[in-house]
Amino acid sequence: MKSAFEAAQQYFEEAASIMGLSDSMKDLLVTPEREIKVQVPIRRDNGQIATYIGYRMQHNSARGPMKGGLRYHHEVNADEVLGLASLMTWKTAVVDIPYGGAKGGISVDVRDLSVDELERLTRRFVDEIHDLFGPDKDIPAPDMGTSSQTMAWIMNQYQKFHGFAPACVTGKPVDLYGAEGREEATGRGVSNLTLAFLRRFNRTAENSTFAIQGFGNVGTYTASCLQQAGARIIAISDVNGGLFNPAGIDIPAALEYSAAQKTLQGFPGGTPISNAELLLLDADVLIPAALGNVLTAENAHDVRAKFIVEAANGPITPEADAIFRQREIPVLPDILANAGGVTVSYFEWVQNQQYFRWDLSRVREELEKYMTRSFNRIWTIAVEKKVPLRTAAYLLAIGRVARATELGGV
Ligand code: NAD
Repeated sequence: MKSAFEAAQQYFEEAASIMGLSDSMKDLLVTPEREIKVQVPIRRDNGQIATYIGYRMQHNSARGPMKGGLRYHHEVNADEVLGLASLMTWKTAVVDIPYGGAKGGISVDVRDLSVDELERLTRRFVDEIHDLFGPDKDIPAPDMGTSSQTMAWIMNQYQKFHGFAPACVTGKPVDLYGAEGREEATGRGVSNLTLAFLRRFNRTAENSTFAIQGFGNVGTYTASCLQQAGARIIAISDVNGGLFNPAGIDIPAALEYSAAQKTLQGFPGGTPISNAELLLLDADVLIPAALGNVLTAENAHDVRAKFIVEAANGPITPEADAIFRQREIPVLPDILANAGGVTVSYFEWVQNQQYFRWDLSRVREELEKYMTRSFNRIWTIAVEKKVPLRTAAYLLAIGRVARATELGGV
């Protein structure tokens, strides 16, 4: 199976060839600007020294300071971080926020570390790279294994070197220069986009059924926002399995149950199904919002949904994508579908730079504006060029980065 990086590379190549991008521009756009790899030693609670490896891959800054998450996970490696950094370049360009793309990570199993150890690890990583990121250079944000608390430590440590600079990182706690609405942003954006997508097929939330895989940050807010818009959500799931109810699942009750029990298993509002079965349900809209590579050449022929929205990163393999193209099942691609998080991160950075705070309704209003505007632009390209939405998204993104590069020069 292709890695996320190889998949993105394949979509990049396809779009680059449709738009006739020169080989020299292609070379420039695939080459990362800077790859940072540092030693991050800490003293463990037991007195021993432990050494970790930290990465920050800065892919492209043609359109602005670089932006991307920081991941703490034992499988973090240079290739994966680089792939994710390049995806961020295209994602920020698709939604037209003035950023480039970057990604960082530390290869560490967070379950092994105490909170104090995580704080020491984070501060030590900042000590190593503080000259290479910052409000006008590269702005980290939370990702797998990191949280708003991690971002608060980063801000605090960065400021010891550079003075007051809350805009050096986003996804901070609301009580420490964070933005209202950041936590819900990705799921709310998925919901905004799904509704815009369905409207193009003369459908509404009310007359469509939905199956959502994953009941974490993205899945829960997607489900809540869609249900508030009138949607009937007939299936949900988490790592332990799923639930099916053709009459519609009561999402607030499922949220309450899952928060108390730490699982959906045993929730009385539906019949148990497996995650594999959920993907093949006869729902109008399928929203994978958990893991990558869940829709593959093995199950793509059996999918019965009429529309797919990639809320997770890379849930469809390129082989499955080809099958959906051939079966004419429209797919809303990840680089647009889950861009709500980075968009509200941008709003947080703007507020920090202006020493001004927006209320929640303004954040939601602006998010919807950015999401629907990007969707409409991509839809127009898809229709004009007769290409799938994914290709249209890459055409838009690569076009914007290439133009900025040409205008700026080297
Ligand atoms: P999360 O950790 O909050 O939730 C993940 C959910 O997936 C949980 O319900 C978990 O139980 C479930 N899950 C885990 N393993 C599973 C499995 N094997 N089968 C089925 N379900 C499984 O994560 P999240 O922040 O909601 O992220 C979900 C996806 O969205 C990821 O692909 C992530 O990269 C992507 N994404 C997240 C954001 C964001 O702002 N959180 C932004 C962009 C993209």
